[in-house]
Amino acid sequence: MTNIAFIGLGNMGGPMAANLIKAGHQVTAFDLVPAALATLVANGGRAAESAAAAVVGAEVVVSMLPAGQHVAALYTGAEGLLSLLPADTLVVDSSTIDVATAQAVGAAAAAQGIRFVDAPVSGGVTGAQAGTLSFIVGGSGADFAAAQPILQAMGKNIFHAGATGAGQIAKMCNNMLLSILMTGTAEALQLGIDNGLDPQVLSDIMVKSSGRNWTLEVYNPVPDVMPNTPASNGYKGGFMVDLMNKDLGLALGAAHAGQSKVPMGEQAAALFAAHGEEGNGSMDFSSIYQYYHKG
Ligand code: NAD
Repeated sequence: MTNIAFIGLGNMGGPMAANLIKAGHQVTAFDLVPAALATLVANGGRAAESAAAAVVGAEVVVSMLPAGQHVAALYTGAEGLLSLLPADTLVVDSSTIDVATAQAVGAAAAAQGIRFVDAPVSGGVTGAQAGTLSFIVGGSGADFAAAQPILQAMGKNIFHAGATGAGQIAKMCNNMLLSILMTGTAEALQLGIDNGLDPQVLSDIMVKSSGRNWTLEVYNPVPDVMPNTPASNGYKGGFMVDLMNKDLGLALGAAHAGQSKVPMGEQAAALFAAHGEEGNGSMDFSSIYQYYHKG
């Protein structure tokens, strides 16, 4: 059993903290929303009145917050947690944030002898509830090893991407590629439909041909081609357009900072941004198909 402080009990953090409790850890948590804390207590955790109170006696701190500014404020802001934690405490930030903030918080932690890994996740709310998330971890080999038993209580696949910040880099690369694959697949399927093909037949051909990719295999964007996809359920559930837009913003920010050429990522980002602005932000990202569809 490990004493764990958990900060941020939202759609993802709530079920992740519940899985840590189920695995036998003692979890003391803080969130700005009282109802989130009440759920944690009902699941067997302890509620704290502040982040500072939550970390008293903690061996490990896990955070799951909306964006980089929240993570920077929590750890390095005025009275940030890094000024309170004893040396050797392990900090695991699972929020999806910009690489620069992850590296800056990691460096500030290291300066105090505090261990830090960035560990963003893939798998969404369903994966958080089922304890099957993928964690993509950046940090030293020793810190990765120390984080493993904690992450295993919340996830299935745990990858070591490289040094601090590498988890965020790998995640943004993956999600930028996913956005390109989804728009490209929707585009090709509608081209076939416009020329008289049945999308089911075209999908069966392409999934066995060189256009094969994850979106065709398990996440077809055309309604009723596959059962159990968001497309066949009114684009409900799944991975929201707003979250894809957030991740594309992080990818393009890093690309521009490092002068990487990302014309495909920029094109996909423009399509998803326009789609979100048209009121589709809370739909699954495969709803980008509607941009192409002439119905
Ligand atoms: P969310 O908005 O549901 O939860 C964030 C929680 O943080 C909220 O409960 C909020 O009250 C709390 N919070 C904010 N500032 C705080 C502070 N200073 N102290 C304590 N609590 C604070 O967001 P989410 O969907 O749980 O996502 C969390 C992170 O996970 C984000 O970085 C997101 O990009 C990433 N992510 C989300 C998904 C998903 O499908 N929802 C998938 C992968 C990754």
